[in-house]
Amino acid sequence: PDDLTASQYIGYDKFLGGLLQEGFDEVSCRSRYQFARYHKNFTRIPSSYLLERLRRQEALQKKCGPGTKSYKQAVKLLRSSQGVNMTTDCNYLFLTVHAGLGNRMLEIASAFLYALLTNRILLLDRYQEIGDLFCEPFPGTSWLMPSDFPLNYGEFTQSSPESYGNMQQNKVVGDNTDRSLAGFRPPYVFLYLDGNYEFHDKLFFCEDDQQFLQDVPWLIMRTDMYFIPSLFLIPSYQDELSRLFPEKDAVFHHLARYLFHPTNSIWYSVKGYYRSYLAKANKTVGIQIRIFEKEGILQKNGRFPYVLEQILSCAQNEKLLPEISMKDEAEAPTATKNNQTIAVLTTSLSSWYSDQIQKKYSEHPTVDGTRVEVYQPSHEEYQRSKNKKHNMKALAEIYLLSMTDVLITSGFSTFGYAAQGLSGLTPWIMFRSENHAMPDPPCRRAMSIEPCFHQAPFYDCKAKRNADLGKMVPFVRHCEDVSWGLKVV
Ligand code: GDP
Repeated sequence: PDDLTASQYIGYDKFLGGLLQEGFDEVSCRSRYQFARYHKNFTRIPSSYLLERLRRQEALQKKCGPGTKSYKQAVKLLRSSQGVNMTTDCNYLFLTVHAGLGNRMLEIASAFLYALLTNRILLLDRYQEIGDLFCEPFPGTSWLMPSDFPLNYGEFTQSSPESYGNMQQNKVVGDNTDRSLAGFRPPYVFLYLDGNYEFHDKLFFCEDDQQFLQDVPWLIMRTDMYFIPSLFLIPSYQDELSRLFPEKDAVFHHLARYLFHPTNSIWYSVKGYYRSYLAKANKTVGIQIRIFEKEGILQKNGRFPYVLEQILSCAQNEKLLPEISMKDEAEAPTATKNNQTIAVLTTSLSSWYSDQIQKKYSEHPTVDGTRVEVYQPSHEEYQRSKNKKHNMKALAEIYLLSMTDVLITSGFSTFGYAAQGLSGLTPWIMFRSENHAMPDPPCRRAMSIEPCFHQAPFYDCKAKRNADLGKMVPFVRHCEDVSWGLKVV
């Protein structure tokens, strides 16, 4: 109907505008079809071409996935010594998952899009609790690598002979290839794309190197980053990417909603918490607090008073939370009451910030009479990314943040990027301090809902020299929180 906005019209569409397929078992993964009920922001509609390509990718995942004839044949290639001459009908991208949960979601989304662009099957490392955290996204197959995978990928490093950067450095492939190796096609290549990667590893983002990799049956990728902005700079992918994402800044938004569905126990805790503390409020404000400062003697347990000041200044300057009246409740019995309640959801490894914010709002009334209540689901104190329960709590909190009406995030943090991507809300980003003092301004509205590619390459492959890649095309810019990073806007 014409009188409804897009968001009202498909606000309760459990298939998320066609991102999700009908026919999955609902009971074993409730979050898949219930996500839409808790995420009313539905202003971004996936393109019909994206939907078409997702269906094609699903068919490929099924045709070539674990247990199929194609898969067995491809694995045989890894075991045989004369592999180079054998043919395969499916090519694979195996992602070795690691790092914190936000990073993992960004790396999985990046690898998925790369697999889709290059017609590969995406498979993930089964030993990193992925199965405990997320339901299977593809119908009729699994995205977890079977346990009989023959390569000892855990031992691959940046300097292993199978590493692409290393092959480049030793001129096994590329422009300066040793003639005797012409036509050389290894059965697999290891792509080292972690944040501390080097010049030769980064050649992955060059057109010619993509041409070479196209014919390699197995790519084994290690990354902890959202590298999609650099895919937008590779000429041969540009047309396809614009067709897939006519709204360029919604890449992660759609991919995350398509790929990630928390398992039942996580989803039940998310729903329970939402219903108990957030559902009744007139407005919800999510504040994601991530401290990267090294703790000094004076600031135990991640307590940085300037960060507290930054949170409150940001929220109040931007009118996301009401100001506090300087009169206390006893002195101002006639203070205006407007019956409005704002529920603030904070997430942090420390409980100190939420306690302090709650204390400030409970000691004094607000100027407009709004009640402010502060909730924080957990305070884990330390990051423990190899602990299953810890990761499950972290995922629940990313989803809770994504359900709020307004989002304030900590710059530099992929935890916040994941939440903003799922929600589709443009966050206010709190900048990281340079000098242990509150930055001025304390926060700024983000340019887009896309995550930042932190350690983006700065090499212009065509010109063969370093260049400012934040100025090559209008839709890839430097990030507001990481000046050397790149993001799609
Ligand atoms: P980043 O390091 O901020 O980019 O985010 P990551 O998610 O990649 O890594 C941080 C990890 O620390 C998370 O995955 C959690 O394990 C933990 N962590 C950080 N902040 C929070 C938080 O607010 N709540 C919970 N439960 N865990 C957190």
